[in-house]
Amino acid sequence: MTLTISALALMATVITGVVLYQSYRQTERSAIEHALNVARIAQRSISRNMELLSLDLDSLVWRHRHASLQLMPEQQRRDFLLGEKAEATYIAAMGIVGRDGELVVGSPILAEIMPGNYAQRNFFAMHRDDATVRLYVSPPLSIRLERRMHAIVLSRRLTNAEGGFGGVAFMVLYLDYFRHLFESLSLEKHAVMSLYAMDGVAYMRLPYDEAFIGSRLRYTPNIRRIMTLPASAPESLQGSYTAQSQQDGVKRLYAYVRIPNSPWLVFVGQTHAELFREWDRMLYAVLFLAAAFSAACAYLISRLREEFFRRSTLDRQLEEQARTDKLTGLLNRRALDECLQDAWHKSQRNTSARFALLFADVDFFKLYNDTYGHKAGDYALVSVARCITGAVARQCDKPGRYGGEEFVILLDEADAAGALHVAGNIMSALQAMKIPHERSPFGRLSVSIGAACLDRQVHHSIEEVIKAADHALYQAKRMGRNRVQMAQSDPSPVQGGTPVSSASS
Ligand code: GH3
Ligand code: MG
Ligand code: MG
Repeated sequence: MTLTISALALMATVITGVVLYQSYRQTERSAIEHALNVARIAQRSISRNMELLSLDLDSLVWRHRHASLQLMPEQQRRDFLLGEKAEATYIAAMGIVGRDGELVVGSPILAEIMPGNYAQRNFFAMHRDDATVRLYVSPPLSIRLERRMHAIVLSRRLTNAEGGFGGVAFMVLYLDYFRHLFESLSLEKHAVMSLYAMDGVAYMRLPYDEAFIGSRLRYTPNIRRIMTLPASAPESLQGSYTAQSQQDGVKRLYAYVRIPNSPWLVFVGQTHAELFREWDRMLYAVLFLAAAFSAACAYLISRLREEFFRRSTLDRQLEEQARTDKLTGLLNRRALDECLQDAWHKSQRNTSARFALLFADVDFFKLYNDTYGHKAGDYALVSVARCITGAVARQCDKPGRYGGEEFVILLDEADAAGALHVAGNIMSALQAMKIPHERSPFGRLSVSIGAACLDRQVHHSIEEVIKAADHALYQAKRMGRNRVQMAQSDPSPVQGGTPVSSASS
């Protein structure tokens, strides 16, 4: 029963553990899926816009090559080239720089935000030195208008009639574009969203932090793994990992998506604690229930154990009682018979095994009862039993009440000398008790004892051994009582102080 409850409790624990683990993984999977969805929306929007902006640059280049351009007056030429794009929300300015780094045409605001020659600017130098770079995205740069703004430059190489470097067409894009895009996406409280270039330069982060823009990402193992993946690897396109934020130290589950045809990666980070709040609640509830269940099981098991021990003790006591004579505390007749049978069977199995029997009977006990009363007779029987118990020291010896005032003592592995020794001890002990019996010729309570040892030549059943001892007792009675008589087949040593004689069986 205890085992069943323990097995059930173990099974419940395992099942609960598996269910909890599964629900944890499920929560994690949905969180990753959600974060990836948000990142993918940002990715699509940025990709589409980059395409459009790239087309704008292409059309600027195309118009710049227009044959009639040189014939136009200054203002008309600028309008033709830059059109209304220069006014578009996130485009700060557009312009064309000649191969010498001088601005050919550009938005008027350029005089304020990017004055002077462009030859030293990185986007110009990039196209001048590397013909393979088609669309270049600059690192974030800070520009001063009425307030400090962050921007990037998107640029395209121009080629002259000979196919050589012919200058650069460029546009300046406010980074607010990314900020507003990110803000338009439904992000959870405490979530972060950021845009990094593959070289680790930060372009945008939500919650917005100006100091963050242009900073460099510290290369943790996760970041290094992502940033160094070859562009063809599927994991480089999107993925997820859990890490502690480099900005605020909060543990988050990050999902990232690569923006194709651009240097960027979008990261969406959701706070671990926030994500798993519901799961944590469930965990605590389950732990509480499991603890309550375990406590109930433990209580039940302890009660069952107690009950089991109580019952087995009770059973043992009952069994003991069923084998014990109520008055004397010795073995009762049934238990004694069992012991005698066992001794006989043992002697049959093992030819070297032996045993002896003492058959004791209180002398003139009817007269004792008549003189002192039945109750006193009972006490006298208890005293005789005590003398017997005192004389039988070995655990393997079994004294029992055969019936009335008769006792049989089974002495295991005893020979005649041993049997007579024990019998003598019983007699001496009773003598020493000096229980008065005025109607006995001895003046004291006495017993007569018949003794018999197992004789394989003569005895063919335990009953025959008992009969031999009983016969010896009869002889002892006949010879005057208060004595020990050995059955005749055994040698009859003389017991000091106590008359001992032999009887034929
Ligand atoms: P003997 O010396 O020949 O053995 O004589 P006896 O009187 O002892 O033998 P007898 O068989 O005539 O009497 C036995 C008496 O033992 C009779 C009975 O009243 C008494 N007796 C048997 N069992 C008990 C008992 O449990 N309690 C008491 N008080 N007396 C018992
Ligand atoms: Mg008797
Ligand atoms: Mg008697």
